[in-house]
Amino acid sequence: MRAAVIGSGFGGLALAIRLQSQGIATTVFEARDKPGGRAYVYEDKGYVFDAGPTVITDPSALEELFALSGRKLSDYVELLPVTPFYRLAWEDGDVFDYVNDQAELNRQIAARNPADVEGYRRFLAYSEELLSAGYLKLGSVPFLDFGSMVKAAPDLMRLQAWRSVHDKVSEFIKDDHLRQAFSFHSLLVGGNPFATSSIYALIHALERKWGVWFPRGGTGALIQAMVRLLQDLGGEIRLNSPVERIDMAGGRAAGVTVGGQSLQFDMVASNADVVHTYRRLLGQDPRGRSEGARLATRRHSMSLFVIYFGLKRKHPDIRHHTVIFGPRYRELIAEIFKGPDLPDDFSLYLHAPTRTDPSLAPEGCDAFYVLAPVPHLASADLDWEVEGPRYRDRILAYLEERHIPGLTADLETCRIFTPFDFRDQLNAHNGSAFSLEPILTQSAYFRVHNRDDQIPNLYFVGAGTHPGAGVPGVVGSAKATAGLMLADARLPA
Ligand SMILES: Cc1cc2nc3c(=O)[nH]c(=O)nc-3n(C[C@H](O)[C@H](O)[C@H](O)COP(=O)(O)OP(=O)(O)OC[C@H]3O[C@@H](n4cnc5c(N)ncnc54)[C@H](O)[C@@H]3O)c2cc1C
Repeated sequence: MRAAVIGSGFGGLALAIRLQSQGIATTVFEARDKPGGRAYVYEDKGYVFDAGPTVITDPSALEELFALSGRKLSDYVELLPVTPFYRLAWEDGDVFDYVNDQAELNRQIAARNPADVEGYRRFLAYSEELLSAGYLKLGSVPFLDFGSMVKAAPDLMRLQAWRSVHDKVSEFIKDDHLRQAFSFHSLLVGGNPFATSSIYALIHALERKWGVWFPRGGTGALIQAMVRLLQDLGGEIRLNSPVERIDMAGGRAAGVTVGGQSLQFDMVASNADVVHTYRRLLGQDPRGRSEGARLATRRHSMSLFVIYFGLKRKHPDIRHHTVIFGPRYRELIAEIFKGPDLPDDFSLYLHAPTRTDPSLAPEGCDAFYVLAPVPHLASADLDWEVEGPRYRDRILAYLEERHIPGLTADLETCRIFTPFDFRDQLNAHNGSAFSLEPILTQSAYFRVHNRDDQIPNLYFVGAGTHPGAGVPGVVGSAKATAGLMLADARLPA
């Protein structure tokens, strides 16, 4: 039995490891020159920049991948704890260190609004319930038919999943900054806190339960660990190998075409963007055209604008993860999700990995990335060739003025990644950073199914399928998809 996996994101690699661990000979085809997808790595002048995910949560899901073959994650990569989990900073100078120490959290909450200490306790209990119903119970099972949704409905109703994250947080917590502090998390998986199902408030409990981690050597070291595990198991990864087509024969996937060559496989799984997969890779087939057209009109998550930069001076006061809230929250987020323009203000996430692992920059230097959520290409029709350098300069000037004095003078390396890059380098529809927006009507059964409804040996894994974006999400999707593939191959999961 042979399987092809298209794409080497966290989801594609996790799926390949699961299949290979159970004896399915698996080949991963990656279009780019390095594995990882959104977790790509840039290196320049001794600085190492993780391109995407930096907040690693639920290490148990990663450990499970290694345990499948009796191995240990810790033999491949070391995970370092990050504290505080995040620093949250507002324009008025207010700072909240989100830590995993209840007394310290209570102290900071009480300083803003004493009644919110009890409100937070109730919010955490709610978030823990979501974690057990939404993530532990349903996060890695495939929703192939409507019956599976009906079964989940009582839990979803009880937990009021139709309400938004912000709405639910506001029920428990009154202070405005604290409401932001406990609702922004859905943005990390492409969800608007004012529109995304409150189910996504589970991320809070997920972080409290398992902590926030960072691999020594960066997220790229974790990707390398997964690649090594796959290869140790006998699996194969082919870089610089964009799949041009999923070949069909008799209503089944027969294999993939790469570099003009047809390669036969018994099963094909796509980790690539779901619109790209149906519309482009399966464009010769009526199923590909109809499903591609349908998905193209669904709501897609916002894009991101990212600046990777290295400074020849250390800034020890800057924490590993800082969320910098701009002057507006609700209105800014509405403009990011709906456009039609690039907002004048921004909220930023600043990554300073050298706080946890100094080896990611030359001695005495700091590596950073800063990202701003921005509208995707269908929400705001911008020419990022022109806008990109301008936006970079505005963001760096803002950081220099408020957080990183001397930034311009110390700058040793700088590169940007725009919505055009999400579109052109990752084949992301509309340049979306997180695929389909995680709203209730695009979740679980309503998301792209882990196995196609009509092509019995075509599967999906990654952000566009159930449960959704984020490292724990796509690693969970790999478990759901592998379960189906192994059952279809009549092998134990
Ligand atoms: C800047 C940024 C920061 C983030 N931060 C976090 C974070 O801190 N924590 C967190 O949990 N999540 C974070 N996320 C989200 C998380 O990174 C993603 O949801 C997740 O990594 C997506 O994984 P995936 O399996 O869907 O594959 P992707 O990473 O999307 O990879 C898909 C792969 O498919 C390849 N591909 C596409 N078309 C083809 C083709 N035709 N042939 C061959 N290969 C193809 C692409 O090149 C790519 O390598 C972040 C995302 C971004 C963009």
